[in-house]
Formats: sequence, structure tokens, C-alpha cells
Amino acid sequence: MAERYDVVIAGGAAMGSSLAYHLAADSGFSGRVLVIEKDLTYAKAASALSASSIRQQFSTAINIRVSLHGIDFLRRGRELLAVDGDVPDIAVREKGYLYLATAAGAGILAQNHALQIAEGADVVLMTPAELSARFPYVATDDLAAASWGASGEGWFDGYGLTQAFRRKARSLGVAYREAAVAGLAREGRRVVSVTLDDGAVVACGAFVNCAGASGARTIARLCGFDIPVESRKRSVFQFSCPTPLPDLPLMIDVSGVWVRPEGEGYIGAGVPEHDPHCEDFDVDWAQFEEQVWPALARRIPAFEQIRPGRAWAGHYDLNLFDHNAIVGPMPGLDNAYLAAGFSGHGIQQAPAIGRGLAELIVHGGYRALDLSDFAFDRIAAGRPILERNVI
Ligand SMILES: Cc1cc2nc3c(=O)[nH]c(=O)nc-3n(C[C@H](O)[C@H](O)[C@H](O)COP(=O)(O)OP(=O)(O)OC[C@H]3O[C@@H](n4cnc5c(N)ncnc54)[C@H](O)[C@@H]3O)c2cc1C
Repeated sequence: MAERYDVVIAGGAAMGSSLAYHLAADSGFSGRVLVIEKDLTYAKAASALSASSIRQQFSTAINIRVSLHGIDFLRRGRELLAVDGDVPDIAVREKGYLYLATAAGAGILAQNHALQIAEGADVVLMTPAELSARFPYVATDDLAAASWGASGEGWFDGYGLTQAFRRKARSLGVAYREAAVAGLAREGRRVVSVTLDDGAVVACGAFVNCAGASGARTIARLCGFDIPVESRKRSVFQFSCPTPLPDLPLMIDVSGVWVRPEGEGYIGAGVPEHDPHCEDFDVDWAQFEEQVWPALARRIPAFEQIRPGRAWAGHYDLNLFDHNAIVGPMPGLDNAYLAAGFSGHGIQQAPAIGRGLAELIVHGGYRALDLSDFAFDRIAAGRPILERNVI
């Protein structure tokens, strides 16, 4: 007889482990949870290769709400995810995001700001003179406005968060198994079992696909439908700069290139001009020379003197439809769920998405925060989430 779990989760990085934790911590749930993760080193998972930054400077209410929950969770993470007094260090740094705008973008920045304030985010709109007064090293000659997150935005240790979720989930009884989900068996509108690449078959009460850029689309197809999610490479470059830049936030230049402090130096990146589906992890050094460094040196002249360091590449699970998460029930199935397509803003969303999926599974609906905007059916209905601030 196949081993049986009440909930089987494919993918045990930030999203799968957040869900596992939220299930196990829900007082209304007493079932057994198994997380199946194909590589427990997480060496190629986005959750380990992420820039792990969090902002409320989105243009849609749902993304703002999800990140407001994210920062609240991160602030309490040491307490919530401690195991037997052993407190995880998620290294939250609330240094803000700084969005810059030329005259062409200033109206949209102001509209976004109004929504962010209405949702409760602590974001300040600035004139170029105010920007210069606070961040004197930023060139403002072509700028008309800026917006800065005075609190609630910044960066953290995403790998640390993933491990903290996993450790806490295991302490609450969740089982992890290193294997890949290779097949699924259905009976009518239910997934009844999962076949692993080692040949084992695990029966399940509910099944959740949290398999990220490397696995979510394949698993969706095993479930009988397709998701418009592709793997896109993002290189992140580290460098040092001899001139101190006090209190530099995560700055998003008008070119789309971004930079933030990391340790004693900085990291920066941008969207590559040529951006095909990609499965390799080779760093795109030409992008640094041709796009990232010139844009940063234009905006912060002190960056002309930087010393380039190491770099790494990871994969976004890019939702080609609208660059936003696809979360909730899988179409045509009564006991299967999906969390994919996070398009570069998923690690900050892991606390809220894990909580929401746990509520769906345990209570049959969202409770603390309605995530139904992210449902798969918006794709079939041609209703994109019109998020302007995608990086
Ligand atoms: C360079 C970079 C920078 C980023 N910066 C930010 C940022 O600043 N802020 C932010 O919020 N987000 C950022 N992101 C995005 C964020 O990291 C991801 O959205 C998030 O980590 C996704 O988590 P996940 O658990 O869904 O996917 P992943 O971390 O990719 O995990 C999926 C897991 O599923 C496993 N898996 C795959 N197939 C199978 C299978 N068949 N069976 C079992 N297991 C399987 C994989 O091994 C993997 O561990 C960035 C991403 C990258 C790559």
C-alpha cells in the first residue's frame, strides 16, 4: 500500500516551506504533511539565489498588501520561527527602496504613491531638491520626482528565511523527502497520488505545486493544464566603491537598473535586453559592462570608481501573461493547488502566499488576506493584473 499524507507539496524552497510551516502552525489542521524537494541543497533554487528585497512600492493593491504582510512577518520572524529557543537570523534591513522618475514617469509615480499610502505603506514622495538633500550622491539633473520607503522596505536573508521556514515546519512534524515529483495519478477531479523519481508512490489528500522556475510548469502539465511560465536568467553583480554612500536604499534607476548595499559593498542588476527562456547559470558579464555599470555610474557618479567583484545568476519563474503570481486552486481539480510565476518578487511574497494557501486547504477559503486576484482563471479570462512596477 502507498504511504499516505494529507498534504503533499512539490518543491520545498521558500514557497513550499512557508506553506508547510503555515499548515503545521494552523490550530485547525492536524494532518500529515510531506514536502518533496528534488535538491535539498537548494543550490539552483531562486530562493537561494535571490536578491531578497522587499518593497511596498507596487502599483496594485494586492501586491502592496502581500508585501505589507511580508514585512510584518519578517519583523516577527525571529519569534515565529524560533525552534527550542534557537532564533533564526533573517537579517532584515529596513533601508527602503528609492524609485526615480523623469518628467515622463512622475505622474505614474504620484498615482502609485497615492495607492501605496491608501494601503498603509510608509512611502514618501520627493522633489529632486528633497532627493538631493537626503541622498546627495544621486544625480538629479534629468529627474522630476522620486519615492522612498521610509520604513517597511529593504532586504533580508532569503536563504535564511527558507531554512528557517523548513526548520520550524520540521519541528512541527512536517516530513521532507529528497526526490523529484515525476508523475501524478488522478481520479476524476482529484489528484490521488504522486509518483517520485525513485519509484515511490505517495497517496495524498491534497497536492500543491510549489516547484518554481525549474519544475512548476512541468508539474502543471502533469495535472493536465499549462501555465505561461518560463525560466529567465538574472545575473547579480557585486562590487565595492571607495566613496562612502551613506544610507543608500535599494535604488531603482529610470533605466530599470537597480543597486543596493550588500555587506561592505553593493549588488546591482538589470533586465537583460535579450531575455530568452534559459536554463544555464552562466553569468552575463557583458550585461554588467554594457548596461548595469554605465547606468549606475550615470546615476551615482561615485560608481565610476567601483571595483567589480564576483557575480551569480539565478532564474526568475517569469509569468509571461502579466508578470505576477499565479496562486490558488488548479483548474479542473478539487484538491490541487498552485503557487508559481512570481516573476522576481516571490521571496517577499512567501509569507503571505504560504499563509493563504494553508487557509485554502484547511478552511476552504482565504481568511486573513484575499488572494483571489492571483487565481489562474484570470489568464483564461484575459484579465491581467496591471502591475507597473515589475523589476
Ligand atoms: C537573481 C534573483 C533575484 C531575485 N530578487 C528578488 C527580490 O529582490 N525580491 C523578491 O521578492 N524576489 C526576488 N526574486 C524572486 C524570488 O527569489 C522567487 O520568486 C522565490 O524565491 C520563488 O520561491 P519558490 O519556492 O516558488 O521557487 P524556488 O526557490 O525556485 O523553489 C522551487 C523548488 O522546487 C524544487 N523542484 C523543482 N521541480 C521539482 C520536482 N519535480 N519535484 C520536487 N521538487 C522540485 C526545486 O529544486 C526548488 O528547490 C529573485 C530571484 C532571482 C533569481
